[in-house]
Amino acid sequence: MEIAPTLYRLQQAELERADCAQRLAQVIATLGDSSKVAAADAQAKAAQVALTQAQTAVRELELEIQSVKTKRANTEERMFSGKVTNPKELAGLQSESEALQRRIARLEDDLLEALIRLEEAQAQHAAASARLAEVTAQREAQVADLTRQREELERRIAALDGTIAQIRAALNPESVSLYEYLARRKGNRPVALLTRANVCSACGVSVPIAIAQQARDRSQVAFCPSCERILHVEG
Ligand SMILES: [Zn+2]
Repeated sequence: MEIAPTLYRLQQAELERADCAQRLAQVIATLGDSSKVAAADAQAKAAQVALTQAQTAVRELELEIQSVKTKRANTEERMFSGKVTNPKELAGLQSESEALQRRIARLEDDLLEALIRLEEAQAQHAAASARLAEVTAQREAQVADLTRQREELERRIAALDGTIAQIRAALNPESVSLYEYLARRKGNRPVALLTRANVCSACGVSVPIAIAQQARDRSQVAFCPSCERILHVEG
């Protein structure tokens, strides 16, 4: 068995697995985060409440105006009916009619403002509803994409687990111990590629010819004299 190439394959498989696991964790976290939709939904609901309130305010003012107008019509009807002849009572009806007319004018001003607020509420409700629809559609597309990514990553991780188990089972215990010892100390990168120019690709130091030859003769394990990693020659 050629130890260095095998350990290098193990390292690359484990690095890829770690990368996949990290990406999978991110994908799962993003899948579980529907806060954007929730925020847009809350805004749409709030806009709906504001719209209903504005509609109610308009309706109430319209009803009140109608009621005061009816009251004023009754007062005028009584005033001009000819049944009331007492001048004091007639004057009272006259001033009541005028008071009701002033009240109608105030209510109609209020109604105008309420109609403006209703228009604003309608615009805000339409915007919030459109935003919710947009965010929901984006989220659906995102969930579909992330679900596909999750499946791919899970498949890849399962395949890598198989490869890693196979490589480890084929290695002798001493090689596995050496690999793990160096992995802990070298940021999970215990094996470095030796370039054609005999440079350690991990630390950039030139490796003496004797050690490089040892690395090229794959039956032996050679170490970089600078970073102490196992040297692997590709090809
Ligand atoms: Zn090195």
